[in-house]
Amino acid sequence: MNGTSPLRGRLAPSPTGALHLGNARTFLLAWLSIRSRNGTLVLRMEDLDHPKNKPGAAREALEDLRWLGFDWDEGPDVGGPYGPYTQTERIERYASALERLREQGLAYPCVCSRRDVEAGQSAPHTEDGLYYPGTCRGRFADFAAAQATLPPDRLPAWRFRVPEGEVVRFDDGFCGPYEQEVSAFSGDFVLARHALGAGYMLAVVVDDAAMGITEVVRGDDLLPTTPRQLLIYRALGLVPPRFFHTPLVVGPDGRRLAKRHGDTRIRAFREAGYPPEAVIALLAGISGLAEPGETALTLPELLPRFRWSAIPRTPAVFPR
Ligand code: GLU
Repeated sequence: MNGTSPLRGRLAPSPTGALHLGNARTFLLAWLSIRSRNGTLVLRMEDLDHPKNKPGAAREALEDLRWLGFDWDEGPDVGGPYGPYTQTERIERYASALERLREQGLAYPCVCSRRDVEAGQSAPHTEDGLYYPGTCRGRFADFAAAQATLPPDRLPAWRFRVPEGEVVRFDDGFCGPYEQEVSAFSGDFVLARHALGAGYMLAVVVDDAAMGITEVVRGDDLLPTTPRQLLIYRALGLVPPRFFHTPLVVGPDGRRLAKRHGDTRIRAFREAGYPPEAVIALLAGISGLAEPGETALTLPELLPRFRWSAIPRTPAVFPR
């Protein structure tokens, strides 16, 4: 399948927990979108969130994906021309991107702790973080000056200087037109939590660009982060991919699938003796890709059925 089309997509699991129906359904759509058009799929392990990483979760996620029948052309286990495919092995790339932003005056050191930022507001402002009012903007001549104000066990973070009042717009392949005034929504956001590290927002841009990704399919919880990522693309002179933000899987109560809804880990289905075809049929069922009564399906069987227009706009509900 590789090499017949310029399309490149990616599966980007984080080893912070087990693969479950929610992330498997996102991967299903990402896989189908690329494979139905003979594109190339990359698997990238997003393991930068060290404190939340679970030992063995990266290996288990790959095993679970393989068990379901997913394949990829490039990844940590198969190599490829754009490796390494594990984010903790790509740190120097994030550091040099951060350096480029610093040279342009677009990154500044910040000594505010999470608690400081929380204290400044009554409620969390964004789904994925807190609104930051720019307290440290223009405050320190350099990183060392910021560091000198902190106790030895703490390091400044780096924040992106968001243009005031600019509305960032893009056309999402699934959700349609989306716009956000980043300076009012999140404010100056974190690029890196320590001198040379990188956070999700910077790493995902650097990696998607470096790996030649043309299409990003991911959960719509990340839709509001995309304008921030587009600002980084522009600042680094990189071409953004097309984005498709897809509805999450929710329980019958309409809340995002979680432990309270029972054990939806792919491994739990496997250990309970379900064949992978049953789990794919279930995922296809909640995604509008199965006929009533179909209880066993494979990924290749779904390829001819896949069209973005067939995917319901509303959250997928499990159990139905
Ligand atoms: N690694 C992220 C996650 O598992 C996905 C990030 C993305 O697709 O941009 O939630």
